[in-house]
Parts: sequence; structure tokens; C-alpha cells
Amino acid sequence: MTLKVAVIGAGLAGLSCARDLRRAGFFVEVFEQERVIGGRLATARLGTDSFDYGAQYLTGRSAKFRNFLDEVSDLGYAARWTPRSQVSGPEGGGQMNSWIVGTPGMASIVRPLTESLRIQTSRRVHTLERVDKSWKIWFEDETSVGPFAAVAVCVPAPEARLLLGRVGDMTQIMGRVRMAPCWALMIQFDERVLPEQDVFSDMTETIRWIARNNTKPGRGGRGETIVIHASPTWSRQTEDVDPDAVADELWSEASHALGLPPVRPNRKSAYLWRHGLVEQSLGETFIYSHEHCVGAAGDWCLGRLAEHAFESGTGLAKSIINSLE
Ligand SMILES: Cc1cc2nc3c(=O)[nH]c(=O)nc-3n(C[C@H](O)[C@H](O)[C@H](O)COP(=O)(O)OP(=O)(O)OC[C@H]3O[C@@H](n4cnc5c(N)ncnc54)[C@H](O)[C@@H]3O)c2cc1C
Repeated sequence: MTLKVAVIGAGLAGLSCARDLRRAGFFVEVFEQERVIGGRLATARLGTDSFDYGAQYLTGRSAKFRNFLDEVSDLGYAARWTPRSQVSGPEGGGQMNSWIVGTPGMASIVRPLTESLRIQTSRRVHTLERVDKSWKIWFEDETSVGPFAAVAVCVPAPEARLLLGRVGDMTQIMGRVRMAPCWALMIQFDERVLPEQDVFSDMTETIRWIARNNTKPGRGGRGETIVIHASPTWSRQTEDVDPDAVADELWSEASHALGLPPVRPNRKSAYLWRHGLVEQSLGETFIYSHEHCVGAAGDWCLGRLAEHAFESGTGLAKSIINSLE
């Protein structure tokens, strides 16, 4: 009989884990709380324009992740982006970086992972229950599914702690991880407003990133679309502030830092990533209990990049495959 494995979270860690489990012959079911998949590889629409309001670009340090990015690019879901940054190059001009971005948006990066997977969206997992030697999954609406031979919990560490609280010493282990909030501002203008450069990093104590989103390949739309990320410190101080007030304050700070004349945006919207950026990682690729056949993966295991999520998710899949074979 084909064994069933549940994956919680359809971000890069969850979907890369699910794909490897599926390829190993298991029946895999993925449960995602949001209406869309991708997690922090996220693309949102404001009117007719799209914005990458989570991860901005990808770099491939390991051969395995580079191969994955090549695969995604070959399928047309990613391309190179070469923005001009404010960092001075040897000639004194803007430095050119060449990064990988999803097309038409960052969320497209996970598309090739979803083939043959059963993914249920708008399903927030509330509790994991051990019944005999298998798992039953309970959702917020008090419905349940199961039994599953194993469960991969691929959500940010603070959320994983809630789900794995009763499994051995996992809560204690995950307590070492620290994740910071991050406000993301999406803002659209009819005309061009930013100076020559397309990206600016660590502008002020409040603003850690500004990007001209519409210079990424495959983005349509008119005028200029800009994404601004606030610093973890400022985001933490303003976690409970109204998003509209945050949007006004961030744009005012950014335009002041860039020395822009007063210009009114057409649209703007601020979103808080409550567990956005890893400040302190676990230092292990994933966590897995062979005794209970349950584990956790995510960027927070290894670092703060999407590549870490991929490495963690595929590592957890390998361990689950070994333990069920
Ligand atoms: C503002 C920002 C900028 C970034 N910039 C970059 C960058 O430029 N380059 C880079 O490499 N990385 C960047 N990152 C980090 C990158 O986005 C992450 O490392 C990566 O996307 C994490 O993937 P993940 O699968 O571990 O987690 P996530 O993407 O967070 O996926 C977890 C998924 O689980 C779901 N979930 C959570 N709880 C439950 C539940 N109870 N039930 C069901 N589903 C649940 C969530 O909705 C989510 O879809 C950035 C992150 C942020 C926030």
C-alpha cells in the first residue's frame, strides 16, 4: 500500500520536500493556510500591477540549488535581473548585480515543484494528533484528515513550535531560533520617481531595501512600481501600528532619504511579514524524530535565504524517505 505523508506549508521548503517525497513514491498531501502557494516567495497585485513583496531575488550558492534555478529558468518561470544599485563600482557608476527572479513574479519559482502534488489551500493546520502509530491533522474549522505515516512541518519556527509542542524536545530545540518581523510597502506611481538606480540597500535605520520592481523581467504595468522593506528593528517597534499609517511613514522616510520632491503615489499598501527574516538560525539542516515520524524544515534551520529553505526541505524529505522505507 502507498504510504501517505502530509506536508504543512506550501513555501519553498514544504514544496521541495513534497516533490522529493512524491518522487520517492509516497502519496503526498500539502496543506497551506493561505489562498495561494509560495509563502514568502510572494507576489501581490495592486490594481493592474504586481509586486514581489517578500523575497526580492535568488542566488544559488550550492550546485543543487543552482540546478533547481536552471530548471525553473528553462521552464520559463525565472530569469536574470540586472538592476543598477547605488553601490559605487570601480568606475564610480552604479554596480551591476545579476540575480535570479521569478517570472512573471517571485511566486512562480515554486510552480515546477507542484506537479503531481495534491495541494489544499486555505487550510490552516491547528493541531497534530498521534493516533496509534500514525498522524491525524486537525484544521482551524475543527475538521480533520488522516491517517498519515509521517508529517513534515514546513512553516516558520514560531508556528512550528505551536504544532510540535508535544513531540519530544522539539519545542526546546526550536526555541533557539529567532525570527524578525518585516514591513513591506508596495507603491505605484504614474510617472518615474526614483533616481537612476534600481535598488538601494540599508538606506536608513528604518529602511533596509528599496527596489524598482518594474525593472524585473516579465513585469508589465504602467508607470513605476516600488517595493520598500523596513528594518527588523523598526518593524518590531511598529508591529501593532495600522498598515495605512505604516505606509505613509515608510514612504515619507524613503522619499526624504532619496531627496525626492513631493510626489503622490497612485496606490500604496503595507503588509507585515510577522515571521519574515531569520535573525538566529538553528544551525542544523532540519529536525526529525524517527520515533514519531515527524519533522520540521524551513529557512530558519540554516539561515535567512530561500536557498536555505530549499536545502532544509529536501534534507527533511530524505530523512522521511529513509525512515519509512
Ligand atoms: C521581506 C523579505 C525579503 C526577503 N528577501 C529575500 C531575498 O532577497 N533572497 C532570498 O533568498 N530570501 C529572501 N527572503 C527569505 C525567503 O523569502 C525565505 O527564506 C523563504 O521564502 C522561506 O521559505 P519557507 O518555505 O521556509 O517558509 P515560508 O515561505 O514562510 O513558507 C511557509 C508556509 O507555511 C504556511 N503556513 C504557516 N503556518 C501554517 C499552518 N499552521 N497551516 C498551514 N500552512 C501554514 C505559510 O502560509 C507559508 O506559505 C526574504 C524574506 C522576506 C520576508
